[in-house]
Amino acid sequence: EDAVLAGINDRKTPSDSDWDTAKPNQGKWDIDPYGGEGKYDIVRRYVTKGGTPDEVIAALEKAGLLGMGGAGGRAYLKWSDVREAKASNNQKYVVCNADESEPGTFKDRDILLAAPHTVIEGMILAGLVVGANQGWIYVRHEYPEQIERCRAEIKRAEELGALGTGIFNSKSSMKLEVFPSPGGYICGEQTALIEAMENKRAEPRNRPPELMTNGLHDQPTLLSNVETFAWVPAILKDSGDWFASQGERTGPMTRDLGESIKGKRLFSISGDVKRPGVYEVATGITLGELIDTHCQGMLDGQAIAAVALSGPSGGLLPAKIPIEHLNRRGLENCIDSSVTHIDIRDLPLDIQVSRVLGYMLGAGIVVYGDKCDLLAEAVANSRFYRNESCGKCVPCRLGSKKITDMGERLLAADVDANELTTMYPVIMELSAVMQATSICGLGQVASNPLQSFLKYFPHLAEDACRKR
Ligand code: SF4
Repeated sequence: EDAVLAGINDRKTPSDSDWDTAKPNQGKWDIDPYGGEGKYDIVRRYVTKGGTPDEVIAALEKAGLLGMGGAGGRAYLKWSDVREAKASNNQKYVVCNADESEPGTFKDRDILLAAPHTVIEGMILAGLVVGANQGWIYVRHEYPEQIERCRAEIKRAEELGALGTGIFNSKSSMKLEVFPSPGGYICGEQTALIEAMENKRAEPRNRPPELMTNGLHDQPTLLSNVETFAWVPAILKDSGDWFASQGERTGPMTRDLGESIKGKRLFSISGDVKRPGVYEVATGITLGELIDTHCQGMLDGQAIAAVALSGPSGGLLPAKIPIEHLNRRGLENCIDSSVTHIDIRDLPLDIQVSRVLGYMLGAGIVVYGDKCDLLAEAVANSRFYRNESCGKCVPCRLGSKKITDMGERLLAADVDANELTTMYPVIMELSAVMQATSICGLGQVASNPLQSFLKYFPHLAEDACRKR
């Protein structure tokens, strides 16, 4: 063998009965490389055949694996940073963020149920690479089945010798525990999560310093999303090149967007589609393909009225997006200059491409059909952010309330046409302040639902005023 880990290339035909039980209608996913046999084989090879941190980090770099929690940073860089960070008391930590709470996002829920061993193996490997011997899976407290499943799998891994003191009779050790999140949405923000684990009030921290150097108990901490850890065994088993080659380029907008399209990922998709669920797809396929191929089209023959591509945090995008609302420079490379609108179905589901073109892409996609009350949806999403704001920063605490109040009044037909003309500029001003001064992402996106509604659906706002 040229390499101990990268590219073992003996992927088995999937036949995992656990997987079938947990996902009766979803089929098999590449994220689980074992097909029910040989779980923790990568860890075994690492500790018994001389695997090295450099080898693992190089495979993650080749794979182009991005963080799957939303920010989309390069996984290998985070692993390298934590590995190189100095721990003042010789202790580093690995934490898996399974506090999945964004409305419309539920992929981690399914991964933890169907393939917890992939997450645990990814965390063990992370510990071996960065030099951490303690880790936690921080799970949303409304996920009792997942908590139970993780605890059972940790026990099973310990019995197999993959976890605990002397992993597979080597000198390496790793202890893993489940930490149920104590509460609301903000407890899943990465620094608030660390505060909660330190038994403090779960409020986001100012950054820097970053968690890679000053995380849990002020020690270097590798904190990543469930799916990010879960992909690691498959990448090491089948090679970084294998993962990178899974990306696809489809649709009219991806022809000149460089090397960015790599790998596979999981999306949760819900709303007015025939078959909502969690789908593992090649990065770079279009939204239209996801809806038509995997979700079997729109419910009741509806047309798409709007899509939230990043849960409510990215706001509502219309079915036809005027190109001035996307990044012209990015668009120049990938569409004809005469085009004035982009069909939302043509948008590539690739976080790198979304950055170039200027739209937000998360892991939870919500599709709204033409029978949907978009104003009611926008206001419901504004309420969500208002309710979940932790209140630490004044602009977020007051701004999210003020924006929601405006939406509530519009919904109650308590706004006249004159006031409507001032509403959008006021929200834009508030939004700018919130984005510039909020400590965490919640304050930076709280205005997006109502702001995007007024921007893309002014006719619906005018209809609401006419009801007065
Ligand atoms: Fe709390 Fe909002 Fe400030 Fe985030 S932006 S720390 S949620 S008040």
